Amino acid sequence: ALEAPDRSVDSVCPYCGVGCQLTYHVKDNRILQVTGRDGPANHGRLCVKGRYGFDYVHHRHRLTKPLIRRADAPRTPELGLDHDDPFRDFREAGWEEALAFAAGGLKAIRDRHGPKALAGFGSAKGSNEEAYLFQKLVRTGFGSNNVDHCTRLCHASSVAALLEMIGSGAVSNPVADVAEADVIVIIGSNTTDNHPVAATFIKNAARAGKTLIVMDPRRTAIARHARHFLQFRPDSDVALLNALMQAVIEQGLVDEAFVRERTEEYAALKAHLAAFTPEAMAPVCGIDADTIREVARVYASAPNAIIFWGMGVSQHVHGTDNSRALISLALISGQIGRPGTGLHPLRGQNNVQGASDVGLIPMVFPDYQRVDNPEARARFEALWGTALDPEPGLTVVEIMHAAKAGEIRGMYVMGENPAMSDPDLAHARAALAGLEHLVVQEIFMTETAWYADVILPASAFPEKSGTFTNTDRRVQLGRAALDPPGAARQDLWIVQEMARRLGLDWNYDGPASVFAELRRAMPSIAGISWERLEREDAVTYPCPSEADPGQPVIFTEEFPRPGGRARLVPAPLRNAAELPDGDYPWVLITGRQLEHWHTGAMTRRATVLDAIEPFPVASLHPEELERLGLRPGEAVTLRSRRGAVTAFARADRGLSPGQVFLPFCYHEAAANLLTHDFLDPVAKIPEFKFCAVRVEPA
Ligand code: SF4
Repeated sequence: ALEAPDRSVDSVCPYCGVGCQLTYHVKDNRILQVTGRDGPANHGRLCVKGRYGFDYVHHRHRLTKPLIRRADAPRTPELGLDHDDPFRDFREAGWEEALAFAAGGLKAIRDRHGPKALAGFGSAKGSNEEAYLFQKLVRTGFGSNNVDHCTRLCHASSVAALLEMIGSGAVSNPVADVAEADVIVIIGSNTTDNHPVAATFIKNAARAGKTLIVMDPRRTAIARHARHFLQFRPDSDVALLNALMQAVIEQGLVDEAFVRERTEEYAALKAHLAAFTPEAMAPVCGIDADTIREVARVYASAPNAIIFWGMGVSQHVHGTDNSRALISLALISGQIGRPGTGLHPLRGQNNVQGASDVGLIPMVFPDYQRVDNPEARARFEALWGTALDPEPGLTVVEIMHAAKAGEIRGMYVMGENPAMSDPDLAHARAALAGLEHLVVQEIFMTETAWYADVILPASAFPEKSGTFTNTDRRVQLGRAALDPPGAARQDLWIVQEMARRLGLDWNYDGPASVFAELRRAMPSIAGISWERLEREDAVTYPCPSEADPGQPVIFTEEFPRPGGRARLVPAPLRNAAELPDGDYPWVLITGRQLEHWHTGAMTRRATVLDAIEPFPVASLHPEELERLGLRPGEAVTLRSRRGAVTAFARADRGLSPGQVFLPFCYHEAAANLLTHDFLDPVAKIPEFKFCAVRVEPA
């Protein structure tokens, strides 16, 4: 029988952007069980991660004391972390010594080499308050805009295209709008694995008779519910989407009134699309012309149609163009601005939306106010009481390049794991190893923490209170259910102590006082008070006043661009940066699994999740396994121009022959040892969804 809890604490799930509300049932500072709450995004449902992925917080590997690298344990470019004895290369220290060493090292670099010799990575796993204070520390304490987080590796290209074309990077409609839609389109999203509870609402809608269209190079589980499944060739997103738009035009299905009244530059788009006939694009994307015409007709002629997309669209060197084409498709079809329509890039982490909103990115302050806009800068200089750098900072991968080149000499990393998540890991790890001073704030000895000079033990999700913004733009309250173990401290406390030692006079009294400043900095959430969140649990922005109930559907009248009109931007055809050839004839697709979260730091230490998926797996079409003389479960080696990994082979009929899928959560077979670091030129996102590899029996 289950032990009886001594208290229950309402909070939100720490994993994906769906933002399920849950309750922690706690006894003696331990979580006994997690149950779903009737939140607006989940109606009581939780997936396997939300329900069973909680006991990582009690794992014996938790960091409970500050650690300083031992003098006799120099770091090497090659990861030297012993995962069985993770603390071997470090000695314990007190907080005073660790903070003085951590901040002192960064301050010395700033004073000797200038503000641009420093950079900071914050985290989408932290709260809005933590992300806000972290970017404020970098901007006012380091003195530059070299601050970024994993949104760069996730939806940066979607946001770039959305900002450019419709003036806002957030979703237009919530997931729940599938109930109002007649047609639901999913492209480049393994929704069942990556946004599982959202997928349940989509599946229910399909069962209730809505038309589901799924477009993906891999036949994932959600495709089983689709009336139309388009398994297009990897790297041909723009060809397919442009052909769909041309088919909308050819069939006379353009919403002429919408285009005339609410968009601009249609003539240039139409001229550009003329070459993208379904017949011309069919051999490029592998979808026949009749199917392209039929799907275009179903989408454009629906009373209400909504589009969801994921990393399959965004993580390409043409990710911005992929998103531009999707946005144009919705605009010329008039499928935005009403319930049941719109554009929804499914956000990955539980707070990647919020961390971006509060300015944890190098080119904008909170609420996407550009750092190179003098008026915006003047507002933040007045709010923060200091002069600010007018130049946009470097992005995640650019920071790694600058570190490798010796231009970035010191870094502060809060809750990110670039030694697993960055592309071309050999390069990224060498960059980390070459830093003069690396401060890592973490809950575990991650692969990145191993490279640190000093590690500051922080709080896990259930140990702190804060606000989190889900994929629907819904600001929700997470509440502390546990005390951090040992000498581990709240992240907000650590950031504030670091700031003080960098010369900033900060006196925040917990998350509510930080949130009060956030409201002053961000007109979009001015109507959301901490007290209101305690009362209502969730409020959707924009919410400019306390009387505003929050606005789940936006762009109903106009777009937040000059003149109120959306701008149509043509998307040209571009190839992936590295195409298969005789030496490396396979296409590698990287991504996630249902049971594991990103680089695995939390879920691989969650007993149930690790028991379900304990080993690295590489998925291939069964015919390819046979051709290689392999049976499922046997070892297979994947080799690219940058590295090699060995994993256990798994059969997956959803993949086409010539494709291999590798999740990136396993340190034993780190997928990013294989990927390259070519970037989308606009959004600076790497191409995690396409590189050339060779596959052979191990
Ligand atoms: Fe958590 Fe996402 Fe699963 Fe909901 S769907 S329980 S937010 S991981």
